[in-house]
Amino acid sequence: MSDTKKISRRKFFKIAAATGAVGTVAAAGIYKATEFSSNAKGKIVIIGGGCAGLSMAALLHRWLKEPDITVIDPSDRQYYQPGFTLVASGVYEPDDVWKDQKDCMPSGVTWVKDVVKELDPSSKAIKTEKNGKISYDFLVLAPGLQIDWDRTEGISQSTLGQGNAHTIYDFEGAQKTWKAIQEFAQKGGRGVFTDTYTKHKCGGAPKKICLLTEHHARKQNTRDKVTLDYFTADKELYDVPYFTPRLLEIYNERNVSITLHTRVKGIDTAAKRVHMERIETIGDEKIVTPVIEDYDFLHFTPPMSAPTFVREAGLSWTEGGLAADGWVMVDKETLIHKTYPNIVCLGDCAGIPTSKTSAAVRKQVPVAAMNLVLTMEGKTPDQKYNGYAACPIITDYGHVLLCEFDYDKNPQISFPFTMLDMSKEQAAAWQLKVEVLKPLYYQGMLNGYGF
Ligand SMILES: Cc1cc2nc3c(=O)[nH]c(=O)nc-3n(C[C@H](O)[C@H](O)[C@H](O)COP(=O)(O)OP(=O)(O)OC[C@H]3O[C@@H](n4cnc5c(N)ncnc54)[C@H](O)[C@@H]3O)c2cc1C
Repeated sequence: MSDTKKISRRKFFKIAAATGAVGTVAAAGIYKATEFSSNAKGKIVIIGGGCAGLSMAALLHRWLKEPDITVIDPSDRQYYQPGFTLVASGVYEPDDVWKDQKDCMPSGVTWVKDVVKELDPSSKAIKTEKNGKISYDFLVLAPGLQIDWDRTEGISQSTLGQGNAHTIYDFEGAQKTWKAIQEFAQKGGRGVFTDTYTKHKCGGAPKKICLLTEHHARKQNTRDKVTLDYFTADKELYDVPYFTPRLLEIYNERNVSITLHTRVKGIDTAAKRVHMERIETIGDEKIVTPVIEDYDFLHFTPPMSAPTFVREAGLSWTEGGLAADGWVMVDKETLIHKTYPNIVCLGDCAGIPTSKTSAAVRKQVPVAAMNLVLTMEGKTPDQKYNGYAACPIITDYGHVLLCEFDYDKNPQISFPFTMLDMSKEQAAAWQLKVEVLKPLYYQGMLNGYGF
């Protein structure tokens, strides 16, 4: 961390208390939540050792008397992805947002360091790249999502940064973004920010980096040299009514324009021009208008979908709003697959109508784990997830609008007993975001605590 040096244990608890983050204290291991044990037996395979996969592995390992758990994941590193925004704004150093995967893997769990290529849910068999076939009795599907770089013409993961086109949805990309934001604030010009038309991780991230760029320019006394424009593929800037009015006010106060219904098609990096289309439905008619915008600095959000092997396994929704990008067909409350009761799915690849965040994963894990154990015991899985997700929208260097909500978009405020008005940005929420949530992730969630 550069602005905020690594915090002491004492300060961690002080901030946790000030922000009312009881779960945070639990996460640090002071209070062990939800103790439970079961004699259920069976081979559990977890595909994906990210935040959902490892949290499930740790909790299931603690709950089962005779755990037989295998995690398949090729990655050497466990990235704290919510920190990418803070890398891209100079608050964290790149090395602050990852740890060696071997140090995060729960003890007692078998780690197969490999890529899943195919999955046959009828024969309960997985085909991996190097280790051949692996079978299971029960499957936890948690491989996250894939970024579809090829769905944006003119740019790829390897050419990120060309023509000053950037994205923070990539570790290297986040680092390049910070360098580019500093140069842009110095030189001035037009900054264009976009989201995308598919469901994507942390819908707040593109808005955060836009507002942080604005504040960085103000801190450099160069705000009058930059123009900032935000384009969203959506019909509104944010769709959680409790928080939207203040967010709109902030964009207005900071003089950042908002254009709705507009999605990126491609980027002409040589000309520094972004090609978009504006899609509006009037009555039954869909009207598509080309939009071409010049920029000096661009932050774009690439389209995303469920990993290819998931789609090819026939586990995805085939109809409805989640069918297009292969999201997994699970019951939105139990997180059990609609066709295969021995499969639970959670995290970014789950086809459920909530925001794809690690905050959501935090609440999904105990539900998915308990329902899996109940299934293993031959009982009815009756635990229910209410769609909780949180998106801490950083509004400037020092404040965060801590958006927390459920499936019905009702606010799910974690700190209802404080004097803070959580429909507005708060300094305490900035402290929570910058200083507490990362230790909560590594020390709490991934060890099966803090839910
Ligand atoms: C820029 C950015 C900002 C974000 N900000 C926030 C925020 O402020 N708050 C918040 O709560 N969330 C935020 N998120 C979202 C959050 O990081 C994700 O929602 C969360 O990591 C999802 O967890 P997951 O376990 O489903 O997927 P991941 O954590 O992505 O893990 C997936 C794992 O599956 C593995 N895998 C993939 N394919 C295969 C395969 N074929 N075989 C085996 N293993 C495979 C991968 O190696 C990886 O380890 C942000 C994300 C980004 C990128």
